[in-house]
Amino acid sequence: MTSNDFPILRLKKNEERRIYSGHLWAFSNEFVEVPKNIAAGSIVKIVRDLDERFVAFGFYNPHSLIAARILSRDPVEQIDTDFFRRRLVAAADRRALLLSSRNSARIVHSESDLLPGLVIDKFDDAIAFQISSAGFEVRKDELIALIEELWKPRAIVEKNATHTRTLEGLEQIERLVKGDSAEALITDSAGSKFTSDILTGQKTGFYLDQMENRTELRRYVKPGMKVLDLFSNDGGFAINLAAAGAASVIAVDSSVPALKRLKLNASANRVAEKITTVARDCFDFLQEQTEALDMIVVDPPSLVKSKRDLPQAVRSYQSLNQHALRLVAPEGVLFTASCSHHMSRDLLAEVIQEAARKSRRTVTVLEERGAGIDHPILVGMPETAYLHAFVLRVL
Ligand code: SAH
Repeated sequence: MTSNDFPILRLKKNEERRIYSGHLWAFSNEFVEVPKNIAAGSIVKIVRDLDERFVAFGFYNPHSLIAARILSRDPVEQIDTDFFRRRLVAAADRRALLLSSRNSARIVHSESDLLPGLVIDKFDDAIAFQISSAGFEVRKDELIALIEELWKPRAIVEKNATHTRTLEGLEQIERLVKGDSAEALITDSAGSKFTSDILTGQKTGFYLDQMENRTELRRYVKPGMKVLDLFSNDGGFAINLAAAGAASVIAVDSSVPALKRLKLNASANRVAEKITTVARDCFDFLQEQTEALDMIVVDPPSLVKSKRDLPQAVRSYQSLNQHALRLVAPEGVLFTASCSHHMSRDLLAEVIQEAARKSRRTVTVLEERGAGIDHPILVGMPETAYLHAFVLRVL
């Protein structure tokens, strides 16, 4: 099929502007018509209805609010297997330097790598992929063949059980596509080691987005510090902070399997005796905790599933941060994060301000951080900045 054969979709007046500014989504109400006889996942040619001027090529999904996801704004681009191969290679090349200091990274970050709806994480010699667009869903076999061809991994894991997939009308599926085991040994740039069963682990098997924040937070650890790691999962922060010299770390998470994994990881890093795990709801734990801590990490899951939940979520972030601030010893450090797509950096800053007011603590900002450099933000698409974090000193 040549590019000229793709079905044509017409944008209403002025709806091309967001695409021209680099955004990669076009919503169903922005088209003159959303034809049902074009199959989900097809490639379409998007034009202005006004004068038929070419706007972009994109993936089409008549069952999603995001009716088109932009692939290319180049009118002579051939969208074929080689196009996807080039995009995958380019994305992986962007991480080559990072992967010289650690063995794992997100090598494809969806829209930010111009591969809308596709995430690929490399965990040592294993690869996990996650699809959230019909376009990649119908090309899954082609994608797996490309992963095999380009990286020849020991294991390939499909991690396709996400809320976003239900919005796109895609099935929930997690499976080992290739290999005997989904176990991987992950190293970060500070030399911490983590094992993960990618198939059963949360998200794509491991939270890669906080990897740099964990190692950077080591800079604030003084020998003898008492640390609290809330929403610890398998111990990314707890283990780094213990290894950096903290005297003790309490790690709290409601997931028993995650804490079991944390203990294995702690032993592998020879810090098991410093870390106490608590299988509890972090909100309840915080309410009852009275002992002061020198450093607290607050890294909750996304508390906002849709815009409607935002007010309630803001109250939850508020409560978490207020209680955490109350517990930080004078001159101590609070690392607080939000990975909610609907929570902006400014809103998190307001939450912190309000939490400081309510807890009557004086708070300074040491650093503003986000997801690691393998999770880039697409400037034309603010939605791609989902993780916001602050390193605070509590006076
Ligand atoms: N800090 C972790 C990632 C945290 S992800 C890291 O660096 O890897 C969010 C975690 O919160 C998950 O492990 C999940 O099991 C846990 N969780 C979700 N809701 C919770 C709650 N109410 N109380 C305690 N833990 C919770």
